[in-house]
Amino acid sequence: MTRAFDHDLLRRFATRAVHAGQAPDPLAGAVMTPIYQTSTYIQDGLGRNKGYEYARTRNPTREALERNVAALEGGRHGFAFGSGLAAVDTVLKLLSAGDHVVCGENVYGGTHRQMTHIWARLGLTFTFVDGGELAEVKAAITPATKMVYAETPTNPMMRLCDLAATGEIARKAKALFVVDNTFATPCFQRPLELGADIVLHSTTKYLNGHSDMVGGMLVTSRDDLAERIGFLQNSSGAVPGPFDCWLALRGTKTLALRMRQHDVSGRRIAEWLAKHPRVERVYYPGLPSHPQHELARRQMAGFGGMLSVELGDVGRARRLVERTKIFVLAESLGGVESLVGHPASMTHASVPAELKRKMGLTDSLVRLSVGIEDVEDLIADLDQALGDD
Ligand SMILES: *Cc1c(COP(=O)(O)O)cnc(C)c1O
Repeated sequence: MTRAFDHDLLRRFATRAVHAGQAPDPLAGAVMTPIYQTSTYIQDGLGRNKGYEYARTRNPTREALERNVAALEGGRHGFAFGSGLAAVDTVLKLLSAGDHVVCGENVYGGTHRQMTHIWARLGLTFTFVDGGELAEVKAAITPATKMVYAETPTNPMMRLCDLAATGEIARKAKALFVVDNTFATPCFQRPLELGADIVLHSTTKYLNGHSDMVGGMLVTSRDDLAERIGFLQNSSGAVPGPFDCWLALRGTKTLALRMRQHDVSGRRIAEWLAKHPRVERVYYPGLPSHPQHELARRQMAGFGGMLSVELGDVGRARRLVERTKIFVLAESLGGVESLVGHPASMTHASVPAELKRKMGLTDSLVRLSVGIEDVEDLIADLDQALGDD
């Protein structure tokens, strides 16, 4: 006989990360959730089955991941997708032609591209605002506004959105409040507790944490939204395969440990860079010099390992990203390994020049995803790469 976990005992984050949503497999008692690599399930007779009929609709490995991430976000329902952008696609399908969305202008480039190149053509309308300015958010609301979409901290400017206050604006407008929590993770920020209706993730990043799969998640506590999202997940069909779900589930087990180290190393490197003579400015919410540091302290339990550096000179930025030996020059973020990127030519190449200027995203800006290697080695690597001009 197998015993189910007592979920009332999974009170704290690190305990939930390891156990929530999972129970030993009934067949052999496998402690770790098996990979149910099957598309279909036997039916004992007409209309008689174990609740599983076809794997687009339900898969036990996927369900374990969905329950796990939902528990980490403090939500009741989780839905996994084949990518973060498939989760964005699904959340926007909650709307209908003619509906209006107020969205942060500094959201993930692929999110902005999907909104402006796909959804705008299909009849949704968008107003992009500085999500850090509550007055801009409020002014953009119209009678047609059905969703407020926020990302905090943003990529790569590390600008924050006040979640509680923005949630209040959305609630008054009777609009859904959707928060992309990819950067902070539920370890450091839980938007549902601050008024969000839906939390979105690219599990590709910190939740999986090992840069070896692509996936997305939606979490909500509202039963009405869960029913509609479940319908869309099955009807649009952008579900992840069981192996990717298993990788993500393995990843969340160490989320608390990894985030602690990303945070410690991120702070140390941000402080070190801020004092470096070749660095003009460091964008990191954990630095007291960050214009929204107070909000960061109020809203986040940690600041993580993402930071951007203004070098004031394009050649210097190029040399930095090309000279590092431990920081790998690559897109993506949130893995155990440190990455360095040049947003203007890589992740944000498609952002219009005017908007880049408004956000302060220059050609001499470099973004770091600080991994969990020994921080002194990472500093030595940055030091030699910043070396001589
Ligand atoms: C990567 C990312 C996405 C998109 O996720 P994919 O898994 O690449 O589709 C969305 N939001 C943020 C903040 C991201 O970093």
